[in-house]
Amino acid sequence: MGGQYDCIIIGAGPAGLGAGLYAARDRFSTLLLEKFFPGGQINTTDRIENYPGYANIGGPDLIEKMIAQVTTFGAELKTGTEVMSLKRLTDGRIEVTTDNDTYTARAVILSPGSSYRNLNVPGEQEFRQAGTGVSYCGTCDAPFFKGKKVVAVGGGNTAVEDTLHLAKFAAEVVMVHRRQEFRATKVLVEELMAKVNQPGSNLKLKLDSTVSSIEGTGKVQRVIVSNVKTGQKETIDCDGIFIFVGMVPNTGFLKGFVELSDQGFIRCDGMYLRTAVPGVFAAGDCRVGAAMQLVTAVADGVNSVMWMKQYFRDPDWWTTA
Ligand SMILES: Cc1cc2nc3c(=O)[nH]c(=O)nc-3n(C[C@H](O)[C@H](O)[C@H](O)COP(=O)(O)OP(=O)(O)OC[C@H]3O[C@@H](n4cnc5c(N)ncnc54)[C@H](O)[C@@H]3O)c2cc1C
Repeated sequence: MGGQYDCIIIGAGPAGLGAGLYAARDRFSTLLLEKFFPGGQINTTDRIENYPGYANIGGPDLIEKMIAQVTTFGAELKTGTEVMSLKRLTDGRIEVTTDNDTYTARAVILSPGSSYRNLNVPGEQEFRQAGTGVSYCGTCDAPFFKGKKVVAVGGGNTAVEDTLHLAKFAAEVVMVHRRQEFRATKVLVEELMAKVNQPGSNLKLKLDSTVSSIEGTGKVQRVIVSNVKTGQKETIDCDGIFIFVGMVPNTGFLKGFVELSDQGFIRCDGMYLRTAVPGVFAAGDCRVGAAMQLVTAVADGVNSVMWMKQYFRDPDWWTTA
């Protein structure tokens, strides 16, 4: 069937739903295309404490409210629809091809999000449900581990930052890293080491080590680590494990259309969220520099629509401002 729209939004996670609300409420014909079902990553948690206005709400509950609001204002939502490719036409419209149709739009907002990289060890999937002990986001979940013992895995900037954040809440944190050296920036590593070396510190390092399994009955109770040099295994009794080994952006279908970073995140200008392709914005966890939070993803969606209006008023703004 296809169709022509003012605005097509790719991915109906928090960023896409935020964009959809503002675009539809501004009376732009708006189509949201979603590969699976709306909500994105936040669907997988039942405890959100840092979305303003809600002291505690489940991901699916919050998303249900967002969908109702977006569709009330007239946005069209197509689920089970995967976007496969995009093209800028000679008249400046953007052609969007899905697995079963082709649409065009005056502007496109890319919000396909990203996924946490997994460790792929036994127990990781089993304890992924909120409250059972595997987490990928220190900012989101650290307060749930107040006074508990946790393991943190990784060696990059996010791993170090989130581990330091965790140490403010947990009674004890054991940071497991597969090398001696950290990939994180020097200043962060210095902060980490200062914390580790404090007398009586609750933060300990387990270097040259990898996690081989996560175990427990109904919830995480211990993590088994292996020393990469000696092969020796060790059991760490704990209440949870935070896995900070990176994010994988869902941007494979955008290769060759917009500019991507080495890690695959969409490059855009930080102020207006414009990609190198006029009329195409990036919003949420898919873009370089994203804060990887619900509220910032929604804000990106909203901002992209505000700047979309500027583009509609003055297409030259894309290259002049
Ligand atoms: C378990 C868990 C708990 C979390 N807890 C919190 C929390 O408490 N507080 C907080 O602030 N943040 C939390 N986060 C992070 C938060 O969920 C993300 O920052 C946020 O969802 C990012 O929104 P997004 O719209 O950019 O991307 P996503 O949520 O990833 O949504 C992207 C959507 O795009 C769709 N899509 C991808 N590719 C295509 C395609 N080719 N065609 C069509 N559709 C496509 C996907 O199916 C998905 O629905 C949590 C994340 C997880 C996984």
